[in-house]
Formats: sequence, C-alpha cells, structure tokens
Amino acid sequence: MTDSNSFDIDESVIWNTLAAASACDSGRIREILAKGREMKGLDAEEIAPLMALSDPTLISELFEVARHIKDTIYGRRLVIFAPLYVSNLCANECLYCAFRARNKEVERRALTSEEIARETRILIDQGHKRVLLVAGESYPVKGFQYILDAIDTVYSVKHGNGEIRRVNVNIAPLKTEEFAQLKAAKIGTYQLFQETYHHETYGNVHIAGKKADYHWRLRAIDRAMTAGIDDCGIGVLFGLADWRFEMLALMQHIRHLEAAFGVGPHTISVPRLEPATGASIAEHPPHPVGDMDFRKIVAILRIAVPYTGIIMSTRETANLRRETFALGVSQISAGSRTNPGGYAESAREDASQFSLGDHRNLDEVICDVASLGYVPSFCTGCYRLGRTGADFMDMAKPGDIKAHCDPNAASTFQEYLMDYGTDESRAIGEKAIETFINDMAETPAKHSRIMVGKVKEGKRDVYR
Ligand code: SAM
Ligand code: SF4
Repeated sequence: MTDSNSFDIDESVIWNTLAAASACDSGRIREILAKGREMKGLDAEEIAPLMALSDPTLISELFEVARHIKDTIYGRRLVIFAPLYVSNLCANECLYCAFRARNKEVERRALTSEEIARETRILIDQGHKRVLLVAGESYPVKGFQYILDAIDTVYSVKHGNGEIRRVNVNIAPLKTEEFAQLKAAKIGTYQLFQETYHHETYGNVHIAGKKADYHWRLRAIDRAMTAGIDDCGIGVLFGLADWRFEMLALMQHIRHLEAAFGVGPHTISVPRLEPATGASIAEHPPHPVGDMDFRKIVAILRIAVPYTGIIMSTRETANLRRETFALGVSQISAGSRTNPGGYAESAREDASQFSLGDHRNLDEVICDVASLGYVPSFCTGCYRLGRTGADFMDMAKPGDIKAHCDPNAASTFQEYLMDYGTDESRAIGEKAIETFINDMAETPAKHSRIMVGKVKEGKRDVYR
C-alpha cells in the first residue's frame, strides 16, 4: 500500500469498516473520544463509529473534543487567503463544474500577465498576503509554462506596502519533473482534490479528458512529494458519493502518504458541491451532505488528524463558517471571486466556477472573526523559513510551532490593520490582538509585543 506507483484505495476494507461501526455502544464511543482528546489521532475503525452517531448528547461530546483540540493546537489563529482564478480554459469534462470543456454557457478566458498583475494588485490592496492560484486544465493550449509565468507575475507585483508572499496552487496533476519546476517557482502548498475516491462514481462524473484517469490523479500527491513539494493539500468534493466512504478513503490516502514520505498532507479541504452554470449534477448532488453531517466531517477530521490544517472556503455561508472555525477549521478564504478577472471586473455569477455562500469582502470577514475572538493571520513565515513538510510536523506535534505562529499572527494582523483596515476593523482588531497577547505564555507574549511594536514603528513583513 505504501508504493507510490501502485497505491490505490481499498474499497472493500472501507465498506467492511463502515458495516462494523453501527454496532458500537456509547461506552465505546466515549473511549474513542477520550483517545481523541489525547491528540494522537484516530484510526479508520475509530472514525467510523463517530460518523454513525445520531444521539445528540454524543454528538455534542464529539464537538466538545474537536473544540478542545482546535483550541489547544491552533488557539485563536485563523489563516486568511484568497483564490486567484487565472484561467477557465479546460479540456476535461467534470460534470459538476462550470468550466467543463463542453459547457457553452461560460465565456472562456485565460488572463494575460497584465490582467494577472491587475488582479494581484487588487488583492494586495485589500490586504491579502496569500493567494491560491487556480486554473482549469488546458494543456497544451495554455499549458504548464503559462502557470509558471502566472506564479512569477504574482510574486513580482509590489504595491504600496504590500506584496503576495505565498502563492499556493490548485491545478491539474503534473508529471514529477513538472512538479519539480513548480517547487522551483517557490509555491507554498500544492493542492489537489480527488473529488471522489469512489472508483465507479469517479468514472461516472469525469467522462472525458485526462482527469478521467482516476489513478493519475490519486497518485499525483506522491509525484509532488517525490519532486520535493512537501506541503500538499488534499480534499474531497462532498456530494458526489457517500461522505462516510469518502472520509475513510481520505484516511487511507493520508496513512499512505505518512507511510511513504514520513509526512501526511499539510491541509485538507472540504468543499461541498455548489450550483454551477451548465453543470446540472451540481444542482442535484447524488449524495448531498446536510449541515449537521458537514459539522461532523470537520469535527471528526480535527480529531482524526489533529495537526493537519483544515480549509474552509466561501462556498459555505457566514454562519456555517463561524461554527466550523470552532470545530477545527484553521484556514479560510475571504472576499473570493471564482471567475478569471473577477476582482477587477464586478463578479458575474454566470462566469464563476460555482456559486458562493459568503459574499462579504475581506474587511467585513476580518471584523466578524476578530469580534468572535479570533486573530486573522496573514503569516507566510513557515515556508519562507523552511518549516515545511516533516520539519513543520515535528515542530507542530509538541506544540512548538505555536511559539512562532502566535507572534506572527499578531504582527501580520497588526500590519493588515494599519495598512488596509477600516476604522471599524482597527478598533475591533487592536482589541483582539491585545487580548490574544495577554493570554499567551511569557516568551511568545514578549516576542509578540516586540514584533507588533516594530510594525507600529513602520517596519513590514516582521516574522520569526
Ligand atoms: N482544474 C483543476 C482540477 O480540477 O483539479 C484545478 C482547479 S478546479 C477549478 C478546483 C476545484 O473546484 C476542483 O478540484 C473541485 O473540487 C472544485 N469544484 C468544481 N466544481 C465545483 C462545484 N460545482 N461546487 C464546488 N466545488 C467545485
Ligand atoms: Fe476543469 Fe477542474 Fe472544472 Fe474539472 S474541476 S472541469 S478539471 S476546472
């Protein structure tokens, strides 16, 4: 199972584990939750009974353990990013996506480097420091070199006091040598969702183009890691197949990566299918995931893989996003547009990849999360200081990473407030930073005060 060239999802193991799970009594559930609380993670056999829970008391106990882990490991930090869609040209036929090749309802466009620079300037002026570059798969028309050039363009833009300091990418699977070029382009995380791990469903919804090859996609993270990209993100597009199946398949993927490379994924994304122009399957997901199950997904992932980041996009509504922050989410997008050129030109939903649940701008999201007691972090320190992959996990596990992340969150949030904040966010934010620092242990509090002080004196990009 650990060989990258033959790795596959074992479906029969998953179905057997799910079938055995319903027999669990409340005593066993509490044993599993007690183990989860120790923050050493859970196995598939322990996750399956948690997914089967319907008793409201046990579900609140599950949520309580997830909140405890979130608080202990991630504290009040919430990392912020924005997607940057550069091209919607696509040769694939994913039946749920507006960018699918045969969809005539969407205008096709690959941004020029000037347009990419313009989008980047807008994101910088909003206060963003991290972007997730997204594109359809249109090789060789606007091929891999186009992506490398786009990354260069984003990094080259400086505007006012700001610049984008970390470009993560969500693009189609590459060959190992191409992944090496992506690493050389100084990307942060390479992100790729399997969409569904269920072989048959995968075949039914990916009917043409290279993406129809399940295993080429499944083994892409192995190729990325082999090429030296050790911060990789994985995910499932929930709604295509039974979410319980997907969760256990995700765990097989994670355990495979850990066994093969000594480190699992850096992040997990949990997109749910949203309506999309010209993609009827997205209107009527074959296996819709309700809000309660969605909360369970986040909470169970938090307990199962405590040190892996969980990303929540603006596909979800503000209310549900708030709830999931407490249950385990560590990174969120804000102010997103999902069509190429969408930041410069007023967003037309029909040209977007899918419709959004949260339409607020960045500063509105900042005000909201800061008033809930979170500290939005624009930190990009770890990967710039080489704290990636196994090195990051080695520090994260004993809790050492907090001593870096907390001060970095405070200094980068202070930078946001001074350069881009409104009167409202400044008032709420400065109070949140003060409370945040007062609650820290002595040493990180000392670092935070020094770093925030430097930002107040006019220094920028202060991190450790
Ligand atoms: N084209 C590349 C690929 O498919 O891997 C990367 C970019 S694709 C635009 C990014 C992700 O958008 C996909 O992996 C899929 O999970 C998600 N997506 C596509 N259609 C969606 C929909 N209708 N609702 C929610 N997410 C969707
Ligand atoms: Fe293309 Fe990606 Fe959309 Fe599939 S999900 S149609 S590969 S952009």
